[in-house]
Amino acid sequence: MTVVTEIDLSDHPEYDGHEKIFKMEDKATGLLSFVAIHNSNLGPALGGCRYYTYTNEADAHSDVLRLSRGMTYKSALAGLPLGGGKSVIIAKPDKPKTSNMMEAFGEGLEKIGGLYVTAEDVGTTEEDMVSISKSTSYVSGLPPSETLPLSGNPSPLTALGVFSAVRDVTNAFGERNKLVGVRCGILGLGAVGYALARHLDELGAELVLADINQESLQKAEREFSNVKIVSPEDLHKQDMKVFAPCALGGGLNDKTIPEIKAKVICGAANNQLAERRHGKILHDKGIIYTPDYVVNAGGIIAVAYAYYAQIGKNPFGNEMTRENMIAKIEEIGDTTREICLRSREEDLPTNQIADKMAEDVFLK
Ligand code: NAD
Repeated sequence: MTVVTEIDLSDHPEYDGHEKIFKMEDKATGLLSFVAIHNSNLGPALGGCRYYTYTNEADAHSDVLRLSRGMTYKSALAGLPLGGGKSVIIAKPDKPKTSNMMEAFGEGLEKIGGLYVTAEDVGTTEEDMVSISKSTSYVSGLPPSETLPLSGNPSPLTALGVFSAVRDVTNAFGERNKLVGVRCGILGLGAVGYALARHLDELGAELVLADINQESLQKAEREFSNVKIVSPEDLHKQDMKVFAPCALGGGLNDKTIPEIKAKVICGAANNQLAERRHGKILHDKGIIYTPDYVVNAGGIIAVAYAYYAQIGKNPFGNEMTRENMIAKIEEIGDTTREICLRSREEDLPTNQIADKMAEDVFLK
């Protein structure tokens, strides 16, 4: 039986006025989970469930508080009828993840009655969402089916959003309409990075690619027209117009920033700035950093459409078709361009402008 307790983390350094935080425990399956609801002004708090080997509970608290806050900002700027929430499950070596554990997690979500809706994140899969759905309906990210045509892996749609931002920002700052001959570097050719490379290749961009996985690099060399491969340590130093971090967070830091020659940084990786102050350092160097949570919102837009279709509600103001969902994802390009133009006009870092714009939406 899953025991759900509301806990108080208001003394935690990452606490940011979160509405509610729950601990969920099930002895039988070894489930130990935390769910944080940061803000639900715009709708139910939707955000993925991370299954991860945290060293201790304090680390799990930091992650769930920080990630749930990020979801509020991401959904608000993407114009979604959703609040921000996130959950983490502590992976334990002696109690591996099982479908029963996921069901027990779903039982906990059912007990908190729809304040939070879960989906995939690092360490959880579509299959896990199916297990969760056995005990609750507050779950998205289910496999596509005849009744759920908008469901499924959102990574190609995340890539589409990043691509729209690269295209619109690059066009707004000089290059007109095309990316022919524009050199774009992608660090990490995974689900998102590879799909982004395909979009950029289609518009004639030159690609500079790096990954620790040689297979995806070889595949890219075979499939795309103009490819140069470099080592992951050297990608950010390349002479290129656009740098797209699509692997891990924290890549924009005191060591890498002085070596970056790109004019625009626009990629899918979460938490690219090692610290907030790095946004200001990039701004002062004249590098246009497009905030990660703005440009990588394609996935959450897709998940939002799929979830509302699944529960039979339509808060979007237009039909919930794939075309309308894609049109909404392409709006990421407009929002990103607006942030960059405002950053230039107001002489403020893009991450500050984006946060302010998001707060104007969810605190209104
Ligand atoms: P993925 O695991 O499919 O791909 C990551 C790629 O990065 C892999 O090819 C991996 O080999 C490579 N990589 C890992 N470490 C590396 C290193 N040190 N140097 C170079 N390459 C390295 O992940 P993904 O789904 O493509 O997501 C990429 C990033 O985008 C992540 O930060 C993720 O959190 C973020 N993101 C993804 C989505 C989505 O819809 N998938 C949505 C929002 C944000």
